Amino acid sequence: MPFTFNRKIWVLIMFPLMLGGSIKAQLPFPEEFCHHAKKGSSLSRVAQLDYSKHDLFDVNFYHLNLTTETTDTYIEGKTIIQATSQSNIDTIYLELTHQLEISKILVNQSTATFVHQNNDIIEITCPVEIPQENNFEVEIHYSGAAISNKGRGYNTANSNHETRVNWTLSEPFYSKDWWPCKQELEDKADSVWVFVTTSNKNKVGSNGLLTNTISLENDKVRYEWKSRYPIAYYLVSIAVAEYMEYNFTSQSPDGKDIDMINYLYPDSSMYKSEKAYIDCTKVQMNLLQEKYGPYPFKEEKYGHCITPIAGGMEHQTMTTQSGFHFYLTIHEMAHSWFGNQVTCGQWNDIWINEGFATYSQYIGLENLANQETADGFNAAIQSIVMREPDGSVYVPDEYLEDRDRVFSGRLSYYKGSVIIQMIRYLLNDDELFFHVLKEFQIRFAYKTAIGDDFKDVLEDLSQQDFDEFFKLWYYGEGYPIYHFGWQQNVTGKLKIKSLQESSTPKTDFFSMKYDILIFFEDGSKKLVQLQQTSHKEFFEMNFEKRVKEILPNPRSQNLMDVKSISSSLLFPEEIQIEPNPATTAFIIRFANSQTKREVQIYNSSLKLIETIETPNKNHFIKCETWAKGIYFIKIKSKNQEYLKKLVKY
Ligand SMILES: [Zn+2]
Repeated sequence: MPFTFNRKIWVLIMFPLMLGGSIKAQLPFPEEFCHHAKKGSSLSRVAQLDYSKHDLFDVNFYHLNLTTETTDTYIEGKTIIQATSQSNIDTIYLELTHQLEISKILVNQSTATFVHQNNDIIEITCPVEIPQENNFEVEIHYSGAAISNKGRGYNTANSNHETRVNWTLSEPFYSKDWWPCKQELEDKADSVWVFVTTSNKNKVGSNGLLTNTISLENDKVRYEWKSRYPIAYYLVSIAVAEYMEYNFTSQSPDGKDIDMINYLYPDSSMYKSEKAYIDCTKVQMNLLQEKYGPYPFKEEKYGHCITPIAGGMEHQTMTTQSGFHFYLTIHEMAHSWFGNQVTCGQWNDIWINEGFATYSQYIGLENLANQETADGFNAAIQSIVMREPDGSVYVPDEYLEDRDRVFSGRLSYYKGSVIIQMIRYLLNDDELFFHVLKEFQIRFAYKTAIGDDFKDVLEDLSQQDFDEFFKLWYYGEGYPIYHFGWQQNVTGKLKIKSLQESSTPKTDFFSMKYDILIFFEDGSKKLVQLQQTSHKEFFEMNFEKRVKEILPNPRSQNLMDVKSISSSLLFPEEIQIEPNPATTAFIIRFANSQTKREVQIYNSSLKLIETIETPNKNHFIKCETWAKGIYFIKIKSKNQEYLKKLVKY
């Protein structure tokens, strides 16, 4: 194996650095990732072309050649598009904001007439009809103030390091706000060149390899970036500032060096404060290659351009990020495989990008921290998924115009990540699970894929049927709510009663497997797997030892809301703990007040840390000083005992 770093030592040294501070600051709210998820900037696609009618050509190559300064969003220059006609073409349709002014368009070097419509569509009349299966070239000259709106499009701002920065953010439909293009996911360009001229105090980061920097008169410089890998339109990017560079190499599994390029703010404070985090990116790259296959763009580089973006955006080979937070960095890096090498084929299946990038945060914790921290991450994101009763990972057609729904943190990111863990749990074979991920990358390399494409690879390799799983968890809505009761008789027979209801009437029942961890009075434990095939189930098993407690879904591997666990087969009293996850305090709400009720608080190893007696209906408990992680709240009343899970972060 080429990955020879001593992971244990690395974790000891690096992890306190990475996860220092409170988990609250570290918890991966998706607004921090892929800036498109930011709320409050919903925008419809009214300007988007109907490509089913206008898709008459296949893009081969984009060449952007622009001039810009960081004083504002003014840009000028030209974009060349090389394409192949798929039928006889007399009119070419492209997109560019109507707020940029087009001065000239050439088709195969001849001047063409055009109409630049208010809906941002450019309708170009070909001087000569282009026959089917012919290569042709369109050259568009334009200038003006590029669109900058709530962080999307082409932005300019001061960073908190007093550096002026220009940067782009084009997902999902904002490439047209700064360059003319075809905004169609399935038509990746085979390669792209991005040339940018600016003052020579600036550096320009972009896709691919920096092949040249040309000194020009008037203290200008032209950065010439070239990428030979297929690229989706929204992954083309630039970032311009007075950057300093901090570079090193990582390695692909075949021993080839991968350049790791970082464009940082020029005052050395960022370099000093973030160096340890930046150095971690090498280890993250090694890990993701081990799990997903070789870095897909290894002939070029992996880079970061630091900008005042709110979070990050996975621009191909040059991610735009605000800093090097562990969760953010590994999420964006994972998009190199899920999103960039394999891009969602339609926005309905944004899961291919965001579900897997979010799950990569779990993989990062599992491998570079420890299992308990990773399980805590799953528990925390599940609690966010269960804040609302419904919603599917798949984005239904009627929501495609709603950017906040497409990039919903709760559904596309968190529920998307949770169901990947559920697939891994069902396979119960990590070698097979990671084989599926690698095979998916191989089959759809540099192309697009939808959720059903992933399902096909999963079914092929596992020889298992995942129809029902995808129906329930990918296309379906809601999650199961459970009440458990248990009793052990004198002969040792343990009876577990499980009642399942659904969070939403849209899904009646979730057929599923899950784990129960059984704690015995002698301190030993046993994990058993149960399969719920109807709303109400009784399971029986025999043990010689006395059972102390049962804990369903102990590692939070399945999405299930365990409302109560009662050491009785009677219905338990309804109890709520909120907020959950909690940061400083939480309230336990009981259905009734009664004379006496005992509340015991256990840590994740079931070590008792506090006992409280309360007759109150609501009991307030401070948890500010508790270590972050999972806790169990055991409530003993007159003739019942039940256990509830609490996440502290
Ligand atoms: Zn993302």
